[in-house]
Amino acid sequence: MKVGILGGTFDPIHIGHLIAASSVYEALNLDSIVFIPAGDPWQKRDRELSSGRDRFEMVKLATSDDDRFEASDIEISRSGPTYAIDTVREWKRLNPSDELYWIVGSDALSGIPSWHEWEAFVSEVTVVAVNRIGQTASVPFDVVSVEMPEVRISATELRDRFTNKLDTKYLVPQKVSEYISDQGLYQA
Ligand code: ATP
Ligand code: MG
Repeated sequence: MKVGILGGTFDPIHIGHLIAASSVYEALNLDSIVFIPAGDPWQKRDRELSSGRDRFEMVKLATSDDDRFEASDIEISRSGPTYAIDTVREWKRLNPSDELYWIVGSDALSGIPSWHEWEAFVSEVTVVAVNRIGQTASVPFDVVSVEMPEVRISATELRDRFTNKLDTKYLVPQKVSEYISDQGLYQA
């Protein structure tokens, strides 16, 4: 199976993530895309994160009605800092015949050389970059580029919108917006 993995904090998941996954699925003829919320994104410790459960729940709600997509709690179930290499090794142990395509936005691409055991990581997966605001930096490993309709939104901007009760329609799936308001996430 050719499996795409989209990791992230997903706080919250938004259409940028979904359009990225959909574009890569089609361009690379993948069998599925797995969305994996990070348990403890150690490079993002500067702000209070929603719980792993809430972020996973939102990812499930956003992906459950699309057969191409699935949600995995593999990272939020693991304790300690989240390293992509651990996820890759665990995935391959459970599914040894899978070929993995690790999807990142062009902003995250340049950060990969700061990841734990990044050289092992890039040797185990095909790194796929989708365009996001700005130029794609050059990196010391092979990258497959996939074009997607550029979506100039971020979870950071959406958290602000929820906090300030601004419109988020069409930017976040309806079920996710409902979950956010039911659970009272992103209140000031
Ligand atoms: P935050 O603002 O909290 O960093 P984010 O919108 O960047 O949130 P993440 O969960 O950090 O979302 O992103 C997970 C992955 O999805 C990263 O590889 C990121 O580059 C990619 N991504 C996020 N938003 C977009 C977008 N609008 N277009 C393309 N890729 C995106
Ligand atoms: Mg980000």
